[in-house]
Amino acid sequence: MTRKSVCIIGTGIGGLTAGALLTKHGYKVKIFEKEPLIGGRALSFDASSMSFDDYKKLLSRFHMDVPFSEPYLKTIFDKNMLNGYKLDLGYHAIGGGVLSNVNNILSELNDQVGILESYVGLIKEDGFDFPFLSKIDKFKIFPNIFRLLFASEKTLKRLDSVSMTETIKRYGKGKMKLILEVFSRSITTINNLDKISTGEMFRAQRNLYRGSKPVGYPKGGLNSITEKFADYICQNGGEIELEKPVEKIIINNNKATGVLVEGKEHLFDIVISNILVQDLFKIADEKYFPKKYVKEIKSLVGTGSLCAYYSLKKVDPSLIGKTFHFIERNVCVEGNDAVGMIDFMATIPDAGLSPSGEYLVQSYIICNPKEARDEKTLKTLRELLDKNLNQLIPDFRSNLNWAIYPAIWHLDGVAKTIDNKKPEIKTPVNNLYLIGDCVKAPGIGFNCALNSARILADILKNSTI
Ligand SMILES: Cc1cc2nc3c(=O)[nH]c(=O)nc-3n(C[C@H](O)[C@H](O)[C@H](O)COP(=O)(O)OP(=O)(O)OC[C@H]3O[C@@H](n4cnc5c(N)ncnc54)[C@H](O)[C@@H]3O)c2cc1C
Repeated sequence: MTRKSVCIIGTGIGGLTAGALLTKHGYKVKIFEKEPLIGGRALSFDASSMSFDDYKKLLSRFHMDVPFSEPYLKTIFDKNMLNGYKLDLGYHAIGGGVLSNVNNILSELNDQVGILESYVGLIKEDGFDFPFLSKIDKFKIFPNIFRLLFASEKTLKRLDSVSMTETIKRYGKGKMKLILEVFSRSITTINNLDKISTGEMFRAQRNLYRGSKPVGYPKGGLNSITEKFADYICQNGGEIELEKPVEKIIINNNKATGVLVEGKEHLFDIVISNILVQDLFKIADEKYFPKKYVKEIKSLVGTGSLCAYYSLKKVDPSLIGKTFHFIERNVCVEGNDAVGMIDFMATIPDAGLSPSGEYLVQSYIICNPKEARDEKTLKTLRELLDKNLNQLIPDFRSNLNWAIYPAIWHLDGVAKTIDNKKPEIKTPVNNLYLIGDCVKAPGIGFNCALNSARILADILKNSTI
C-alpha cells in the first residue's frame, strides 16, 4: 500500500507534534518552514551566537520588540553579555509539569524530555506565600474546586458562555476569590475577567492537574522538545525544509491538493496549516471558503504580554526552583487588574539556560495586544515587574548583570475569550486541516497546540482519505 503524503506548513510545536505522530502512523510527512529555525513561537535560541541585528529581526518576525533593557540592548550584545545563555523569544511556562502533555505524547515515540516543575506561590505586599495555598486553604476550598474541575463536559459546555466575573461572584469568597482571579488570568493570559470563559478555564485547569506540579519548563529550553519531534520525523523518513515559505495552498474542486513553494507545485494527499490562522487567507484563496468562515477567522485576536529576563549575580537559595504569581490592582490595563509571574525554575543549576555563577530569572505580566504596543502602558508594566522582583529580592539591581524586556502582541494565536470563536481542526475545504494554538483544542497556548496535533492524528487515523 502506498503511504499517504502529508504537507505541514510551519514547524511550530503543533506542526512538529503532528509531523511526528503522523510519521508514526505511517504517513509520509514533509514540513515547509519559512524561518531558518524550527519551533515557531516556541523557539529557544543560543544567545551566544545571535547578533544584535539578527535578534531584533527575529523578534519582529514573531510580532515582538524589546522596548526596554538594562544596559542598552546593543551594549548587551557588543559586550557579549549573553554568552552562555539560552533564551526563548519570550518567557514560557508550560502547564502541567513532569506529567504534562509533552511527555505524554513523547512517550508514544518512546522518548521523554527532562522537565523542571514548581508549585506556584503568591507575592504579597509584605513578602510571599509559598505555596499559594496552605493545607487549610486546600481543605476549605477543594469541595468547590473539585465540583468545577470534575464537572461533566455537558456542564462545561454550558459554562463556556459564562464569564469568570459571574463565576467569581457566585463562588468567589475569601481565598477562593483570589485563586479564581489569579489563576483564570494566568492560565488564559487575559486580564479581563468578563472575557474569560468559565468552561474553557476549567477545561484548561483540568488539563493541568494530572498529578504533577502546575507549572513546568523543559531543561535546556524549549528546543529540547522541538528537536525531539524534528529528529523523530527526519529519522523515520519525513523531511523538514527550512527557509521555504509556502506561497499558496492549491485547492481544486473544494479539495486541497498541494502547495506552491518557490514557484513550484508540490502535490500531497493532505495539507495541514500550522500558521497563525489569521494569516490563512494570505496563502489560501478565500473564494473556496464560506464567507461567514472567512469573516470569523479574520476577526480573531490573540493575547499579549511584557516579559522580563533578569540575569543576576546571586539568588537567595530559598527562591531557587520556585515560581510566583502576583496580582496588581487598578492598573492601566483592560480588566483593571494585571496578573504576572516571576519564575526561578531557570536558576536551578541543571536547567542549562545560563552560564555557571549567573542566574536567569524569567517573568511576564499580562496585557492585551494593543497594550503590548503602547509605550506608556509598557512603562507601567515594566515598573510592576521590577517591583515584584524587588519584593522577592530587595535591591535586586545591585545584583543585576543585565535585563531584557521583550513585549509580545501575538502570544496566543487566538485568545480563548468568550467572543473569539476558534475554528475547528477540519476546514470546509476537503483534505485541508488547521492545527496550533489558534484552533479548538483543550488547553491554552503550548498545550492547545500540542493537543490539536493529537486530535488531528486521531482524526486521520480513523479517516479513509
Ligand atoms: C513570548 C511568548 C511567550 C509565550 N508564553 C507562553 C507560556 O508561558 N505558556 C504557553 O503555553 N504558551 C506561551 N506562548 C504561546 C506558545 O508559544 C504558542 O501557543 C505555541 O508555541 C504555538 O505553536 P503553534 O504550533 O500554534 O505555531 P507557531 O509557533 O505559531 O508556528 C507557526 C510556524 O509556521 C511558520 N510559518 C508561518 N507562515 C508560513 C508559511 N507561509 N510557510 C511556511 N511556514 C510558515 C512560522 O514561521 C512558525 O514557525 C508564548 C508565546 C510567545 C511568543
